[in-house]
Amino acid sequence: MPGLAIVTGGTRGIGAAIARLLKAEGWSVAAIYHGNDEAAERFRRDSGVSVFRWDVADEAACREGVATVEAEHGPVGALVNNAGITRDGMFHRMSWANWRAVLSTNLDSMFTMTRAVIEGMRARQSGRIINISSINGQKGQRGQVNYSAAKAGVIGFTKALALENASCGITVNAICPGYIDTDMVAAVPEDVRAGIVAEIPVGRLGQPEEVADAVAYLSSPRAAFCTGAVLTLNGGQYIANG
Ligand code: NDP
Repeated sequence: MPGLAIVTGGTRGIGAAIARLLKAEGWSVAAIYHGNDEAAERFRRDSGVSVFRWDVADEAACREGVATVEAEHGPVGALVNNAGITRDGMFHRMSWANWRAVLSTNLDSMFTMTRAVIEGMRARQSGRIINISSINGQKGQRGQVNYSAAKAGVIGFTKALALENASCGITVNAICPGYIDTDMVAAVPEDVRAGIVAEIPVGRLGQPEEVADAVAYLSSPRAAFCTGAVLTLNGGQYIANG
């Protein structure tokens, strides 16, 4: 199966762990990032993964970026839509800018990146699409109306796209991580973080590598019968029923 895998947000956190593991499993990996050149360069040096910079919320940039990566590395076999941001705050004080930023990076990016690869995958009758949603898209979270809405949208996107492409050799699945030990969670105030850990039955944050393992499975030939699934990976913090 391995060919080219594109991992958005692949230079830091969960995406970096995914990019490293897919590379170790034989994929040629392109990691996409947005603005942190220093982190991307460090990751490229340490991992040997190719890095490309564009905004996943920008439709033309995604179309052109995917074409550039494919020209260098061949057709995309797997797309991991992982890039995401938070702009937290109570909804009654939320700005339109913080709503748009979160919806465009976390949800519009499902369109921009997937639209750029889906026709090729359908023509080749083969592909793996893995979308990173969140526990907070399943259960909702105070201070994250924008993020919860976007991540719930990712789940609907995944299910509908899975149905449209199941007969074309393409699987589409979502992963809902709980709280994972990355910069995104490190940005949460210490006392809030301690409160979060207290709510996780396994008693700790998840590790990026634990999400990467699930992506490796879903992108492999072993997962050919798994499509439209929403995999909950949260240490028991929220037992979802769908
Ligand atoms: P990080 O903040 O650690 O890393 C985010 C990555 O996404 C970086 O590589 C960043 O690039 C890239 N990125 C952000 N915005 C854009 C953009 N507009 N265009 C291209 N790349 C972009 O995030 P995490 O690893 O914590 O999270 C990864 C995914 O997992 C996200 O979708 C997040 O919502 C989800 N998630 C995370 C959880 C957690 O606990 N950490 C829990 C549940 C879900 P750059 O370095 O240039 O900024």
